[in-house]
Amino acid sequence: MTQDIATPYITERALFAATSKSTISSSFPNYTDPMPPVYGQVLDAFTRCSHYHTDLDIVAIRFKCCNKYFPCYQCHDELRNHHTQRWTTSELEKDEPVILCGSCQQQLTFSQYIGGGSRCVYCDARFNPKCALHYDLYFDLCGPIGAAVEDCKEAVEESN
Ligand SMILES: [Zn+2]
Ligand SMILES: [Zn+2]
Ligand SMILES: [Zn+2]
Repeated sequence: MTQDIATPYITERALFAATSKSTISSSFPNYTDPMPPVYGQVLDAFTRCSHYHTDLDIVAIRFKCCNKYFPCYQCHDELRNHHTQRWTTSELEKDEPVILCGSCQQQLTFSQYIGGGSRCVYCDARFNPKCALHYDLYFDLCGPIGAAVEDCKEAVEESN
């Protein structure tokens, strides 16, 4: 791994998106927003990182503290010398995007992410349901969103 981790991983990713033959291209959304850079130990075009790289680990998370996308909290902590600030429920309810789908490069709001049932609402790619177990690292949740997230966690724990 010789990639300079301070450099956003964007060039190869953009190239990949432009050249890959996807079977779900008909459901691809329009690329209205420029794809944000993803920082950290990113391994591939789907934002898998050196810490989380199963087939399903294809989302990056926008961190409140530095307003940058990372594949996971470990990527963030290796690169940034500050503590992670978590999104609060009221911030998430503003419906600004906080999740990046590594499959279609669309940004999702938290409610889209939770409402999708471990799938991308844009391209239907499968996400890792076990991410629910780590939400507390990124999000400080209460109210209806918090309850929905608790349901997700329970579903994951029961399936183990
Ligand atoms: Zn940060
Ligand atoms: Zn990572
Ligand atoms: Zn997607």
